[in-house]
Amino acid sequence: MKAIDPVCQMEVDTASAMWTSEYGGQMYYFCAPGCKSSFDKDPQKFLSGEGDHDHHEHH
Ligand SMILES: [Zn+2]
Repeated sequence: MKAIDPVCQMEVDTASAMWTSEYGGQMYYFCAPGCKSSFDKDPQKFLSGEGDHDHHEHH
């Protein structure tokens, strides 16, 4: 199974992920220790923005 690293948006294989973090009852997977520590420092920053993509369409 693949998960998206919320910090760098890279695909991470959950079976072999070495860096994980639980936040808000959900597991997040990271490609590198740097990504995990960035997330741990400020999880909301990576979750609220959902990357650089703008999902919100205003009609
Ligand atoms: Zn990463």
